[in-house]
Amino acid sequence: MNRNQSELLFSEAQEHILGGVNSPSRAFKGVGGGTPVFMKRASGAYFWDEDDNQYIDYLGAYGPIIAGHAHPAISQAIQTAAENGLLYGTPTKLENQFAKKLKDAIPSLEKVRFVNSGTEAVMTTIRVARAYTGRDKIVKFAGCYHGHSDLVLVAAGSGPATLGTPDSAGVTKNIAKEVITVPFNDIEAYRATLEKWGDEIAAVLVEPIVGNFGMVEPAPGFLQQVNELTHKHGALVIYDEVITAFRFMYGGAQDYLGVYPDMTALGKIIGGGLPIGAYGGRVDIMEKVAPLGPAYQAGTMAGNPASMSSGIACLDVLAEDGVYEHLNHLGEMLEDGLMKLARKHHVQATVNRVKGALTLYFGSETITNYDQANATNGEQFSIFFKSMLNQGINLAPSKFEAWFLTIKHTEQDIIKTLEAADYAFAEVAATL
Ligand code: PMP
Repeated sequence: MNRNQSELLFSEAQEHILGGVNSPSRAFKGVGGGTPVFMKRASGAYFWDEDDNQYIDYLGAYGPIIAGHAHPAISQAIQTAAENGLLYGTPTKLENQFAKKLKDAIPSLEKVRFVNSGTEAVMTTIRVARAYTGRDKIVKFAGCYHGHSDLVLVAAGSGPATLGTPDSAGVTKNIAKEVITVPFNDIEAYRATLEKWGDEIAAVLVEPIVGNFGMVEPAPGFLQQVNELTHKHGALVIYDEVITAFRFMYGGAQDYLGVYPDMTALGKIIGGGLPIGAYGGRVDIMEKVAPLGPAYQAGTMAGNPASMSSGIACLDVLAEDGVYEHLNHLGEMLEDGLMKLARKHHVQATVNRVKGALTLYFGSETITNYDQANATNGEQFSIFFKSMLNQGINLAPSKFEAWFLTIKHTEQDIIKTLEAADYAFAEVAATL
C-alpha cells in the first residue's frame, strides 16, 4: 500500500506542529513509531487516506463515532446549527432539550452542566466533590485515564495503596500527594486505602467498565462494594463514563450494570463527533456549582449550539431499535473469529469484549487489571497492528485501546477484517 502523501504530510506536520500531531497517541508511539496515516475523508465504517487508500475503521476517533462517520442526520443537524449562528454566549433551548435527554437516559443525573471535553468534565467533578465534602484527596484506579488535568496525571506508587507520583512532567509532587492509586478490581486494596485516609478523601474516580487498558469489566460486586465503602467514609463516587456512556445501551454503563454513582462525567459519544463534555449528578452536590454555589466552572464554548445539535441527533440515532443488538452481534462475530484465528496460528491471545467494544490482547492471561494488561505482548500487537493497517484495517495504535464498532459496520466488513487478521496473525506467528 502506497502512503507517500502521508509520509510527506507527516514531515511537513513535524515542521509546524510539535511532534507532528495534536494528541500524542496519534504519533504511533504505542506501536513503536512509524508514519501516522493522514486521512482525508470518512463515511460510515470507512476512511480514505490522502493516497486514496480505503480502510475499515475500528478507531472510531477513540470512541465518539458510534453512529459511523458522516452520519446524514448528525451532519444535517450540524449544518442547520451553523446556518443559525454558531455561538451566542446566551442560553438556548437546545441546551434544555439535550440536558433533558441526558437525564432521561441516565437517571442519576439529577442536574447536568455542559463543558467542552472529557478532561474538563472529570476535572470539574473533582472540584465539585471537594467543594461538597470539604476534603482534598481523591482515589483513582491504576491504568485508568481520566483526561489530562494535573490531578489525574498521577501514577501509582509502589505497593497496593500508596500516594501517587507525577505521571507527567509539570505535575507537582504536592498535587500527586492528593491522589491515591489502587489496582482495579482489588476491593481489599480499596478498603485499606479508606481505612488509612478515609476522612481525607473527597471522592473515588471510577471507569465503571474500564476502556483505557482495554475493555475490562468490574468483578461481580466490586462496584457495589466501592459504593458502600466510599459512602461509609463520607466520600463521593464519581463515574467517568466518557468512554462508556451510550456504548453498551442507550444510557450509562451505570444503567447497564445497575450501580449508581453520586456524580458522572461524560464526553465522546454524546457530542456525536463535535467537542463536548458534560457532568452531573445529585442535586445537593451539583448545587455547589456557580452560579448557585461556590465551586467555579465556566466556558465560552460550553453548551454551544452545534455540539448540542450534533449530540441530540446522535442520541436520536442510538435510540432507534436494534442498534445495540447490531453492535453486539458484530462484536461477537469479531471476537469469535479473532480467537479462532489466534488458535489456528498458535498465537496466545485473549479478547475482552463488552457488546460492540473489544480488545485483543497478546497473552493468555485473563485481564482484570492494569498490571495484567501491561504484561501482554506489545511487540506482537505492533506487528499485528501494522499488518492490519497495510491491509486496510484501521485499529487504534496501542495495545491498551479498544476496537470500537459502529452501527454502520456490516457482517461483510467483519469477514474482510477477519481475512486480514488471518494474515496478520500469520505474521505474528512467523516471529515466534
Ligand atoms: N475519561 C476517559 C475515560 C477517557 O477515555 C478520556 C479520553 N480518552 C477522557 C476522560 C478525556 O476526554 P477528552 O479527550 O475529551 O478530554
